[in-house]
Amino acid sequence: MTSENVATEIFNEFQLPSTSEDKIKISGPRDSLSETEYEWFRKTVDLAAANLEANEVPVACVIVYNNSIVGHGKNEVNATKNPTRHAEMCALDRVMQHCKDSGLQVDKVMRGCTLYVTMEPCVMCASAVRHMGVAKVVCGCLNDRFGGCGSVVDVNQDTCYAYPSFEYVCNVDAEECVQMMKKFYSTANPNVPESKCAKRRKNQKVDQK
Ligand SMILES: [Zn+2]
Repeated sequence: MTSENVATEIFNEFQLPSTSEDKIKISGPRDSLSETEYEWFRKTVDLAAANLEANEVPVACVIVYNNSIVGHGKNEVNATKNPTRHAEMCALDRVMQHCKDSGLQVDKVMRGCTLYVTMEPCVMCASAVRHMGVAKVVCGCLNDRFGGCGSVVDVNQDTCYAYPSFEYVCNVDAEECVQMMKKFYSTANPNVPESKCAKRRKNQKVDQK
C-alpha cells in the first residue's frame, strides 16, 4: 500500500467519528471541548502518529466543517523544499480547493470551521488562520520557539485582521504530542539539511585549529 493510500484510508475513516463517549476521560483543557470535538482532535493525533510511523514530522492538521473533514494536512516542507508548507497551510489549501469543487463560499465555510492541530500554529500559520477567518483552533502541545497563539506572538491580540480573533483551546493531550516530536527529533532525520548555525559552528572550530 502506498503512503497516499494510507492517507486516503485514514481520511475516509475520519468521515465516521465514533461516538464512544464512555472511553473519553475528561481532564484539563479537554473540559472546554465537546465530546465530538475531542474525537476529531484524537483523529488528528492518530494522523500525526501515522506520520511519525512513516518517519515524517509528527504534526497533523484536520479542518472540520459541519462535522466532516474539508481539509487535512501534514508538514510537506521537506517533500516540496518549500518552507511555507506547514500542515496548517496544506490543510487550508485543501479547504479552498474543496470550496471551489463544491461551489461553496470560502469565507462562509471558514467561519464555520474548527481547525485541529497537534502543535500550536507558528506565527505564519496562526496569521493565515486569522486571515482566512477560521472560527476555532484546537491544538495539542505549545510551540515554544515559533508559536503564534501566545508562546512567541499572539496574533489574536492584533487588530489588523479582517476577521475577529479565533476561539483557541490549547494543551489538549499536550504530553503525548510533545513525546511524538521528541521521538522524531531524537532520531536523525536525513531530510533536514545541516543548519547554517551548525555549519558556522563547525567552521569556527576549523578556524580555531
Ligand atoms: Zn506553521
